Amino acid sequence: NATAARCRRSLVIVMSSGESKDYKYLILGGGNAAGYAARALVAKGVGKSEAAIVSREEVAPYERPALSKAFLFADPPARLPGFHTCVGGGGDRQEPEWYEDNGVDLILNEEIVSADLGDKKLTSKAGTEFGFDKLVIATGCSPIVLSKLEGADLKGIHYLRENADALQLYDSLHARKGEDVLVIGGGYIGMEVAAAASIVGCKPKLIFPDSHMMSRLFSPSMADKYESFYKEKGIEFYKNGYRCEGFVGDEDGNLSGVKVSLDGKEEVIPGKACIVGVGARPNSRLFTDQLEMELGGIKVDGQFQSSVKDVYAVGDIAAFPLKIYDRTTRMEHVAHARQSAAHAVDAMFDDSTPDYDYLPYFYSRVFNLSWQFFGDSVGEPVVVGDIQPKMSVFWIKDGQVNGVFTESPSAEDTEVMAVIARERPSVDVAKLSALTDPDEALKL
Ligand code: FAD
Ligand code: NDP
Repeated sequence: NATAARCRRSLVIVMSSGESKDYKYLILGGGNAAGYAARALVAKGVGKSEAAIVSREEVAPYERPALSKAFLFADPPARLPGFHTCVGGGGDRQEPEWYEDNGVDLILNEEIVSADLGDKKLTSKAGTEFGFDKLVIATGCSPIVLSKLEGADLKGIHYLRENADALQLYDSLHARKGEDVLVIGGGYIGMEVAAAASIVGCKPKLIFPDSHMMSRLFSPSMADKYESFYKEKGIEFYKNGYRCEGFVGDEDGNLSGVKVSLDGKEEVIPGKACIVGVGARPNSRLFTDQLEMELGGIKVDGQFQSSVKDVYAVGDIAAFPLKIYDRTTRMEHVAHARQSAAHAVDAMFDDSTPDYDYLPYFYSRVFNLSWQFFGDSVGEPVVVGDIQPKMSVFWIKDGQVNGVFTESPSAEDTEVMAVIARERPSVDVAKLSALTDPDEALKL
């Protein structure tokens, strides 16, 4: 695209094979966390070419959440450079010029294939070597690919992680208006892309094994409300045991359907486009032998320092101490990517920086709905109201609120929810359960 072409021409540092370059601060990965880490380094006053981003993507860091939302259905659709970091976090839009103006080397289309942390050196597929004093690993996740299933290579099967994937998915959905589109997985990607496909004018069919969508967060009664809303939009569900077992295609190698099984019985659901969202895996392979790992990611302390000095890990890849609940976790959400990157840079410059004290926060937007969640979904969920016009859900254990969710919250509700989740107040469960108005419930 135009941005990438412009990057290649002038603003991006192009390295040749065998060349080596040393940086004081090297950020590996060019996604959400990387953009925010660069912003934080610039705010610390790093000098020209002291810092660099090395990314295998062909575009400068951007706000990834846009890819499953306005990128797919808006008219005109969201496109780069409109959503480069750090627009989502209230900062400047860091187009390639921003990196040049601020002396941060932006090295794109460069995949790192080996790391020697003892020697403080990374090597790219093209044979370029990058030395560092301090390394920030921000390699994020990659989608789990159903590569072992029959027909996995057929044309028309999509995964969604990067700008390039989203461009292809956009073309595919817009070429299939009025036709069935198969969505495998009832998690975040499934829920958001099914909504986008429906807005585009396709007929999505959502296929997943669980009894209800978004089972990682939604209770059955919450999911039921969203599923009814989706059904009213014409979206069909194949759930509760339905598992994708393979893909079928025509003689030209194009997808013609998805093979599913239920209770041992196989059937083919026809469709020429399919999007798979069956989870993501941290891109940690480069470091498994050199760093302590946990939960599939890189284990870090409250300063995002890994088990090797001067090597930090942030964003999706980091398994960090979640102080508020006294457990180690990984968070695959953008608020944490932004905040962890800024925190790691603070800690890099000042080792008296307090430990990261993150309050989990998730959100999603589908159709004209938009929900937010703060805290921990531990305990019995108490639902107040309905998704239209507004609904709040409180997870209660031993009389205390652990997590709070609101569909269509106001800005004021968002602030209140954060306070509730942080303070975990005691509530009268019977009184809360008897309410029908979420505004009253949020005041309890
Ligand atoms: P990423 O943003 O994934 O960046 C990782 C970067 O590292 C990429 O540029 C990748 O190419 C690069 N990389 C990896 N390995 C190498 C290598 N070996 N060499 C060079 N480069 C490498 N979260 C929310 O809270 N709300 C949302 O609405 C939301 N929507 C989302 C929608 C989509 C479609 C997706 C995929 C994710 C969404 N998320 C959302 C999750 C959020 O985007 C991630 O949590 C966030 O992007 C994580 O940031 P990161 O920098 O850790 O990883
Ligand atoms: P999720 O883990 O959210 O969801 C995976 C879904 O796939 C689950 O419903 C799971 O069902 C289902 N599944 C697993 N295997 C199969 C199978 N063989 N056939 C059918 N369904 C299957 O992952 P996503 O892929 O949705 O998201 C990927 C990443 O993107 C995550 O990091 C996520 O956080 C991020 N993201 C975040 C968004 C947000 O925060 N708003 C939006 C979009 C993406 P079951 O539960 O039964 O195992």
